[in-house]
Amino acid sequence: MRRILILGGTAEARRLAERVAARGDISVTLSLAGRTRAPAAQPVPVRIGGFGGAQGLAAYLAVERIDVLVDATHPYAAIISANAARAAAMTDLPLLKLRRPPWVAVAGDRWTEVADVPAAVQALGSAPRRVFLALGRKEIGPFAGAPQHHYLVRSVDPVDPPLAVPHAVYITGRGPFGEADEGALLIAHRIEVMVAKNSGGRATYGKIAAARGLGLPVIMLRRPTLPETPAVATVEDAVAWLAHALTRRERAP
Ligand code: NAP
Repeated sequence: MRRILILGGTAEARRLAERVAARGDISVTLSLAGRTRAPAAQPVPVRIGGFGGAQGLAAYLAVERIDVLVDATHPYAAIISANAARAAAMTDLPLLKLRRPPWVAVAGDRWTEVADVPAAVQALGSAPRRVFLALGRKEIGPFAGAPQHHYLVRSVDPVDPPLAVPHAVYITGRGPFGEADEGALLIAHRIEVMVAKNSGGRATYGKIAAARGLGLPVIMLRRPTLPETPAVATVEDAVAWLAHALTRRERAP
């Protein structure tokens, strides 16, 4: 039986695992970093935790006799994607990146693109503002350097320790988040500006559409550059690519 490792942590990884496992002739393992305390249930066997860099991942691929590696991690998870590219090269394995296309600004959007979180802090300016931080809990630390703002922080798990600022409200939640609910949240907290990542996909687009509807500016973190690897944008395309890659591998001497 052919063996596939899917590097996950995204809804697409889960859906791909389900689709491939349904074939019945491929053994699928899904790998999670172990960031969330209670990860969503997954449709295939899961392994959790880092591999120990590209070398560690390469060793895992060899020991587990993996045939194909799929990197279906979040577009901002740049380290694991770089590791996947290096490990696939070291082990001479086919690698596919499943990457959601980024959102594109449309009429009415007021986006300012910035390179990273410190640049987002800068972009907020010095005057106090009411800010919605739609970032991971591990990424918000630099906002402690701008304690004049009021922050609304939403994360999957509680932020612990809290941000060292006098005005912060914390809420937890796991998407998908609809536009109407997002709009109500922004209004209830009198949000003036949002900081977000260009994650792509529908599950978290509600806040972007809601900001547009309310005329709010969005400080958008630019996507990191990922290694040049074969990439597809949809689960459907990944399924097709995998079928082709596995057939080629079967035919290889
Ligand atoms: P990262 O910075 O690219 O990776 C940091 C380290 O975490 C990696 O070097 C690796 O450790 C480990 N790691 C990451 N993804 C892994 C996976 N799927 N399986 C096993 N180990 C993994 O990643 P991140 O931004 O912290 O994201 C961590 C996970 O959360 C990813 O799986 C990603 O898909 C998911 N996620 C991230 C975001 C985001 O905005 N970054 C949003 C939603 C979901 P070793 O070097 O020890 O192997």
